[in-house]
Amino acid sequence: AEPFAPYALLTELAAHRTPDRPALTFQGRTWTYAQLDAVVRNAVATLEHAGITAGMRVLLLMENRPEYLVCQFALARIGAAFACPNPYWTAHEIGHAAATLDAAAAIHSDRHRGTAEGYRIAVDVAAIVLDADTTPPGEPVREQPDPAGELCIPFSSGTTGLPKGVVHTHASLSGGIGILVDQLALTDRDKLQISLPLCHIFGTSMLGAAIAAGAHVTLFERFDFDECLRQLKTGEVTVWPLAGTVAHRLASMPQISRADFPALRYFMWGGSAVPQQLAAAITGKTGVGFLCSYGMTEAFAPVFNPVGEPEQWRLDSPGFPAPGMEIRLGTDDEIELRGPCVARSYTVQPSREEDDPFGPDGWFRTGDIGRIDDDGRVWIVDRRKDMIKVSGFQVAPTEVEAELLRHPSVTDAAVIGEPDDRRGERVVAYVVTSAPAALDEVRATASERLATYKIPDQIIAVDSLPRSDSGKLQRARLRRA
Ligand code: ATP
Ligand code: MG
Repeated sequence: AEPFAPYALLTELAAHRTPDRPALTFQGRTWTYAQLDAVVRNAVATLEHAGITAGMRVLLLMENRPEYLVCQFALARIGAAFACPNPYWTAHEIGHAAATLDAAAAIHSDRHRGTAEGYRIAVDVAAIVLDADTTPPGEPVREQPDPAGELCIPFSSGTTGLPKGVVHTHASLSGGIGILVDQLALTDRDKLQISLPLCHIFGTSMLGAAIAAGAHVTLFERFDFDECLRQLKTGEVTVWPLAGTVAHRLASMPQISRADFPALRYFMWGGSAVPQQLAAAITGKTGVGFLCSYGMTEAFAPVFNPVGEPEQWRLDSPGFPAPGMEIRLGTDDEIELRGPCVARSYTVQPSREEDDPFGPDGWFRTGDIGRIDDDGRVWIVDRRKDMIKVSGFQVAPTEVEAELLRHPSVTDAAVIGEPDDRRGERVVAYVVTSAPAALDEVRATASERLATYKIPDQIIAVDSLPRSDSGKLQRARLRRA
C-alpha cells in the first residue's frame, strides 16, 4: 500500500475530486466534500484566531460529532497535534491522562467546560461553524507539515494498566490510512457507518480512511443498536466497523439474514480478540464475511490483511502482514512489528529502556504472543503478560476461557495464573453463570478438549468480571484482587 496524501490535505483533495458527493451525515444532516472542506478551512481560521499554532498539543474534549473530525483536520493543517481522551471519562480521569501531555489548548463541549478552563486556550466547540460558503477564498498555500511531526495522540484502552498516550505522526497516519484503504478496498462508492467512539484509534482511523477514499460516512453520537440495524437494512451501508458487545447482540438475534445487510461487504471486527463462536454464528446466519482485524493504539491501521473473498476469510487468524509491514517473533514468541503505521513513542518514556516497547530500530513489541506458519499466516495467541506457565508449559488464558464458555450456562470467563510452590503457577478460572451451575460440570466441559496442565485447578463463580471502558477483560485486576 502506498502511504496516502498528508492527513492535512485529505478533505481538500476529496473536495477537488468529488465536490458534490456526500462526505458526512450526522443526525439527518449531510455535508458534501466541498462543504466539509470549507467547514475545515473556516475552523482553521477560528482556531488560529483563538491562538492555536503549529507545534501545540490540543485536547479534544467532546463526544462524537462533526466538530470532532473538523477539528482534527483543521489542527492537522495548522500543524498542531490533537489528543483524544475518552469524553466519557470523569474530569479526574481526563486530568490523569492529560497530565502527561503538557497541552496548551482544549476544544470542549459543554460538559467539559470546567476541565478546559484549566488550559491556556479554551475553545468552546460552539465556535466551530458548521455552515460554510464553498467558494474557496484563495487561501495562501500552506507549508506542508513535517511528516515526522506529531499529529494524533490517542490513549490505549487501559487493559493492562492505566491508559497510555501514544504519539502518532503525520507519517504514521498517512501510512496507516494507505494500509486501511487497500485492506478494505475502500472507494468513493462506499458508505460507512461509524458508531465507534472517535476518541479511540479504531474510530479515528476508519474515519480517516473513509475520507481519504472519498466515501460517505454516517457518524453516530453514541452507539444505538436498533438505529444502526435499521440503517444497515435500508441505507446501503457497505462497511460496518464493530467491536465489543455488538457481536453478542447480533449473534443472539433470532432471525438475522443477508436481507438485513443488503449492501454490506463485510463485518469489520476490531479492538480485541475475535469472539469465535459469536462470529461463526453471525457469518453462518448472514453469509456475510467477517474481517478479523488485529490492531492496537500503537499502530494506526490493522496490520494484517485477510486474503481472498470475504466469504473465505478465516475467523481464527487476521491473515498476513499488510504491504509494508514487517513482523517477527521475539522472546516467548512476542509479536514485533515495524512499518509505516507504527507510532513514534508513548507520551511518557518508560524509565528503563528495556521497558520501552518502541525499539531504537523501529521495531515495536506488541505485548501479544503470536504464531506464524510456513506461508506467513499469523495467529494471535494471547497477551504476553497474561500467559500462564505451569510446570514449564505455556497456557494461554483465552484458550481455556473458550472451553469454559462452551458450557451453556457460562456467560463470561476469565483465566489467570496464581503462584504455586510446586508447579510455578496454577490455572484459576473465574466464571459468570446465567443459572446456578454445578462448577464440577463446568470443569468437566472444559476438560473434554484440554491437556491436563491447562485444566483449571480451581473454578470460582463471580457476579461479574473486571472490564475496561471498551469491554476488554482486565485479567491484571483479577490477579491483583
Ligand atoms: P493497554 O495497552 O492500555 O493495556 P490495550 O492493549 O487493550 O490496553 P488497545 O491498544 O486498544 O489497548 O488494544 C490493543 C490490544 O488488543 C492488542 O495488543 C491485543 O492484545 C488486543 N487485540 C486487538 N485485536 C485483536 C485480535 N484480533 N485478536 C486478539 N487480540 C487482539
Ligand atoms: Mg496495549
